[in-house]
Amino acid sequence: RLVVHDLAHRFPGTDLLFEHLDMTVDPGMTVAVCGPSGCGKSTLLSILAGWEKPYAGSVERIGIARTGWVFQNPVGVAQRSALDHVVFPLLAKGFSREEAEPQALEAMGLFDLDHAAGRRFSELSGGEAQRLMLARAVCSRPDMLLVDEPTAQLDTRTAHSVSHVLGNLANQGMIVLVATHDPDTRDACDHVVDLAHYAPNG
Ligand code: ATP
Ligand code: MG
Repeated sequence: RLVVHDLAHRFPGTDLLFEHLDMTVDPGMTVAVCGPSGCGKSTLLSILAGWEKPYAGSVERIGIARTGWVFQNPVGVAQRSALDHVVFPLLAKGFSREEAEPQALEAMGLFDLDHAAGRRFSELSGGEAQRLMLARAVCSRPDMLLVDEPTAQLDTRTAHSVSHVLGNLANQGMIVLVATHDPDTRDACDHVVDLAHYAPNG
């Protein structure tokens, strides 16, 4: 489980973004992190991932060995196929191509990308590229998945489908945190953390 206690953050020379943030997230839960642009949603995810050291407070990752991360902006290699983007991290982990490809295709199928496997990254739509990043993160079977604005580039129906898949992954025992300002995506989560409530004097 993830236990956050009295967390506060500011970057050097700037004001506090949030303070007195407490939360506990058990496996199986989806949590939406909400709040206006610039309130610190992405920053909070970096802190939870352990990449950014918090200004104050603590983050305990109990029994969380692997963290998956999906950036706000998809990053890929223009000329490489979508499939390769999911397969390569598996090869790096020691899987053979024969083992990695079916796993990658299965994850891509979850996010409705069967048609896109052979396409170059540069040919993908914004929403396809975003979903490809989700498939890649899921493929490594993380205990905790941190996703930054997964539905920003998606239509309502596709966004709903992505929320549904994230909910299913949580049901299989994953912790899923989603930074989002999309009300539908927020409402699909089990729990909501509104960072506006933790703004100084907020
Ligand atoms: P959005 O909804 O636009 O994605 P956000 O809630 O994710 O916004 P963050 O990216 O967490 O916001 O940024 C919070 C604030 O901290 C912003 O004002 C940003 O400019 C600032 N910030 C982020 N990273 C740094 C950094 N490394 N150094 C200084 N300031 C930073
Ligand atoms: Mg952000």
